[in-house]
Amino acid sequence: DSFPGDFSGDLHQRQTPGFLFANVLPAEFNKIELIAFNEELSQEIGLGNLDQDLDFLAAQNLPATIETYATAYAGHQFGNWAGQLGDGRAIFAGEIKNKNNQSFELQWKGVGATPYSRFADGRAVLRSSVREFLMSEAMFHLGVPTTRALSLVKTGELVTRDIAYDGHPKQEQGAAVLRVAESFLRFGHFELLSARKEFDTLQKLIDFAIENYFDEVKINSETKNLDFFKAIADRTAKMIIEWYRVGFVHGVMNTDNMSILGLTIDYGPYSMMDEYDLEFTPNTTDLPGKRYAFGKQAQIAHWNLLQLANSLFPVIKDEKALQTVLEDYASNFWKLHDEMLCKKFGFDVLLKNDDQFFTTWQQMMQDLKLDYTLFFNVLTDNILEDNLDAQKFISTFYSVPKTEDLERINLFLRSYQERLAQNKISKDDPQQLMLKNNPQFILRNYLLYEAIQDLENGDQTKFDVLLKTLKNPYQKGDASLNQKRPQKYNLIYGCSQLSCSS
Ligand code: AMP
Ligand code: MG
Ligand code: MG
Repeated sequence: DSFPGDFSGDLHQRQTPGFLFANVLPAEFNKIELIAFNEELSQEIGLGNLDQDLDFLAAQNLPATIETYATAYAGHQFGNWAGQLGDGRAIFAGEIKNKNNQSFELQWKGVGATPYSRFADGRAVLRSSVREFLMSEAMFHLGVPTTRALSLVKTGELVTRDIAYDGHPKQEQGAAVLRVAESFLRFGHFELLSARKEFDTLQKLIDFAIENYFDEVKINSETKNLDFFKAIADRTAKMIIEWYRVGFVHGVMNTDNMSILGLTIDYGPYSMMDEYDLEFTPNTTDLPGKRYAFGKQAQIAHWNLLQLANSLFPVIKDEKALQTVLEDYASNFWKLHDEMLCKKFGFDVLLKNDDQFFTTWQQMMQDLKLDYTLFFNVLTDNILEDNLDAQKFISTFYSVPKTEDLERINLFLRSYQERLAQNKISKDDPQQLMLKNNPQFILRNYLLYEAIQDLENGDQTKFDVLLKTLKNPYQKGDASLNQKRPQKYNLIYGCSQLSCSS
């Protein structure tokens, strides 16, 4: 009973050494079926070829060297302290190191209940597992920091879920994803120790995190705890800016879903944004307050960092210093954000008046609700034209364009061309910059919806096409996959709006 694949090292229990965890055994499954195996990722982390090992991919008949466990964490959910939570349906295999001495944690999602499941079943349905598997890989290939997915299997079980749109419980196929990340440590792990006033242990967890995951923080520094917090704030800002760049809306930015490493984690009722709307939230649970809407993500990340600051305060004890980090986050954020927008527009450097240009553009996008991704694709394709015309943007409208809408776009295009003329780089270079920063393919919710419907009926064709396409999001691939959401999907549940039920 050796470890499967090419891996011959030790598997360590990791993440929260000696505390905040419980050993737990996965459930038994009798009819496991492989849907997808991520060969490249498996090679990268040193596991080699595992796709024949269905048992391992569903956490079955594990070798005795693997001691599976789940971790406890806490969290603020939708703005309220929720107390202790934990890996309710995530079970760790442990941590492995590849040949380059990089470490990775392996974790199954959906293979059974844990001491932290509360009243839930520890299972995951096919629908949500497909969404996690495909989107985490899509984000990786877009260049956004994220947890990753090694495999997707059906467990052969039927799982009961209460789907929010009709309220009737429904049986769905069960599935499991094997996830990979350098670490799955969340804000909530630190919040839990602090809430329990276990400050020595909190310090141990901070030291552990610094030593293993934060090269930018010096463990011997007197300000290591504050530096640690600052590093988390920096990484969080970078992550959110990347979400804005590609148009990702997380949907459940509770502090238990925030990675201290600045990785996108917990793919639930997320969505890529089709039509531009700062108030768009895909999460039906979030609809009343729109707390987690696209445009609020920067501010919510800041609020989450504030909760983390409160938790770390007992071991930092310097309120002013913490406040300064939070203020710096806010002021740095918009500068970094504008630099990101510069690249999307093909500007070489951020100029003084650019914020005004961006505000005008944003207001136009918000009012006209143009497709975010297509807008930049059309702009990129036509940037070398001298008389760039609004007609070119008709394909980015979700409604019938009015004359004044087109005039507004034309006005914007003139100011855009004036701004472009201030570039120091040569005339062709902006297009290259834009091609690198504006994806052609994004994994739109309606595409996922179609693939999931087919997969639930045993047809994997669309799933496989998406998996292949998402690996090259900056290439002009099959045009039919790079279109705006077809109108017939506007009101279909699951095509832009979803519940937390998964
Ligand atoms: P989420 O909204 O996905 O971040 O989940 C919030 C909490 O509920 C986490 O502690 C999850 O582990 C837990 N949870 C969600 N779904 C289940 C489930 N089906 N079984 C057990 N725990 C779950
Ligand atoms: Mg979660
Ligand atoms: Mg979740």
